[in-house]
Amino acid sequence: MISVLEAQEKVLQYTTLSPSKIVDISDALACVLSVDVFAPIDYPPFWQSSMDGYAVQFDDGATLQVIGEVQAGNAPTFVVEKGRAARIFTGAPLPKGANCVVMQEQVNRVGGIVTIAPSAKRFYGAYTRAKGAQIKKGALALKKGTYLSAAAIGFLASLGINTVAVYAAPKVAIVVTGDELVDVGEPLQFGQIYESNGITLSSALAAMHLSEDINFYRLEDNAKATEELFSTLLNRFNVLLISGGISVGDYDFVGKSLLNLGVETIFYKVAQKPGKPLFFGQTADTLIFALPGNPASALVCFYEYVYPALRKMMGHTSCFLPKLQLEVSHDIPKKMARACFYRAKISDDGKTVRSLEGQESFMMQSFAVADALLYVPAENTFTAKGSLVEVHKM
Ligand code: AMP
Ligand code: MG
Repeated sequence: MISVLEAQEKVLQYTTLSPSKIVDISDALACVLSVDVFAPIDYPPFWQSSMDGYAVQFDDGATLQVIGEVQAGNAPTFVVEKGRAARIFTGAPLPKGANCVVMQEQVNRVGGIVTIAPSAKRFYGAYTRAKGAQIKKGALALKKGTYLSAAAIGFLASLGINTVAVYAAPKVAIVVTGDELVDVGEPLQFGQIYESNGITLSSALAAMHLSEDINFYRLEDNAKATEELFSTLLNRFNVLLISGGISVGDYDFVGKSLLNLGVETIFYKVAQKPGKPLFFGQTADTLIFALPGNPASALVCFYEYVYPALRKMMGHTSCFLPKLQLEVSHDIPKKMARACFYRAKISDDGKTVRSLEGQESFMMQSFAVADALLYVPAENTFTAKGSLVEVHKM
């Protein structure tokens, strides 16, 4: 049995970055750039007005004749000589000769004549945006490793870039084991429970913007069927997520089947609660996580071990759930020699955290309202109210 920290370290150590692929920017949300991106154009591409007003020469007189108008999208052909002004709108190109914009609030216009207020700010470039003011053609726009947020994608679009190289999403197979499991929507017979880990895990993947490359399989508790299915999945997927059947019961066939198929064990069993019987292994092309079947154990193991592995593959530089140090609002006695992950809720003001009622590993109601996992290391026996605890924000 290894410690939480050793297990997490092993997960990252055995996880490699996905290869690059080219995607349309409309499919790039939440991906990570795998190459530096350079600006193909100046931005703005031309000298433009940043206000609705009048384009003038900054050192001209106060009373000027209006000789034309430039709307955003126009390409003016006239020249603003001394004594002249052009009506101009935000985003429109400065006509030749003009080098300053006066806000419309600071002029008085009568017919074809404008008079500029003495208080108006007039200097070279006033109320304009220089060509290339944000970025010059050929300059580094976004670095390799940049997370593609809505803003980043919008910025790329503003430069006319419509495809980008990103780290590919890992292909994931979810395998759910258990003869007692019934699909939601079917009637429940005595002795059966609804299968919920499948959709829990696929939803957790969807929340990471991984849903396209997910395949889902159901498996009965049978050695032959288990080995047969695993043999078809190994090396076909980057990640195999297995739910249940990894414990020590007579009908737990996952571990034995993986070993029979030559999967290398990286670790089996972590000194934690919930989720002790977690298995992590590999073949040439597949990482295998066998998660305990109890729903809360499976999901804690997902967040603490699978999530960081997937994040690393996808090119993220911070892989684990964000860690906070928060004041705990109650005592936490702990007899257990293992580390504990408590399903917890952060206060509305973000300053304190409390663990929720119902921490047994079959219980999901607390998890359903939790927004964090409160981590108590193995060696801690008593955590007093008011002390700082490590919180992993989901
Ligand atoms: P196992 O790890 O297969 O021994 O399962 C541990 C517990 O989790 C048992 O009570 C199972 O019935 C339950 N369980 C296993 N898989 C699922 C699942 N997919 N959905 C809901 N409960 C499950
Ligand atoms: Mg089972």
